[in-house]
Amino acid sequence: MKTRIMTVDLENDLQSQQCVSIHKIVPKLLNYFDDNKIKATFFTVSNLLEKYESEIKEIAKKHEIASHSYTHPWLNKNNAEFEIKTSKEKFEEFNINIKGFRAPGMIITKDHFKLLKKHNYSYDSSIGKFFPGRYQNLSSPQKPFIKENLPELPIPTTIYPFINSGLSYLKLFHPVSKLFPKKYMFYLHPWEFLEKKDLPKNNSMISNFLRRNSGKKAWNIFEKHINKSNSKWTSCQDYLNKNKLL
Ligand SMILES: [Zn+2]
Repeated sequence: MKTRIMTVDLENDLQSQQCVSIHKIVPKLLNYFDDNKIKATFFTVSNLLEKYESEIKEIAKKHEIASHSYTHPWLNKNNAEFEIKTSKEKFEEFNINIKGFRAPGMIITKDHFKLLKKHNYSYDSSIGKFFPGRYQNLSSPQKPFIKENLPELPIPTTIYPFINSGLSYLKLFHPVSKLFPKKYMFYLHPWEFLEKKDLPKNNSMISNFLRRNSGKKAWNIFEKHINKSNSKWTSCQDYLNKNKLL
């Protein structure tokens, strides 16, 4: 049985200021993970700790918590160090030990790895292949590799060069996406399971794409994907412990 990595980006719903999904979806997701013996990494925006400490500590009982920045902006040279540093401090303030980082929107700066090392992160999972206007790393590997002495767990594409191995793409291209090959890592956002009525109002083109097949349909698509993968799903840290890259 193949071992693959399950990741969850825990952030406000669809770029809004609310996080309805932490109560409406996360408990169901945790039950589903329990029932299917899935261990995941929750890349968590750390300012959520101020409102949702107990919810995040509940997740941490069985899963890995890692950083998804402090406030979830696209990183640039002015805010990157603040987000990387403050995020780690916030987790420490709440006694949560984190090792990994995933950049919002998978957008990183040229000093990204230098900053992660400076602030004592021990791995990164931010590099995607291609998204118009956000990132373009067409020649970077599809499997874990070492980047500037730090393990990088890149976001794999199911279909080269831009269909990432994430629930948003399975939903967008459903039912054709049933045929997409399974990759070493998968990612999802809890808000992708919200019913349309619970999603924040936001009419940008991207957010309309992201609303496709939400709610029950998203659960169906996700559960079928997991069943068909016939895999043992684990966290980033457990995967790195078993597959030494350095
Ligand atoms: Zn995000």
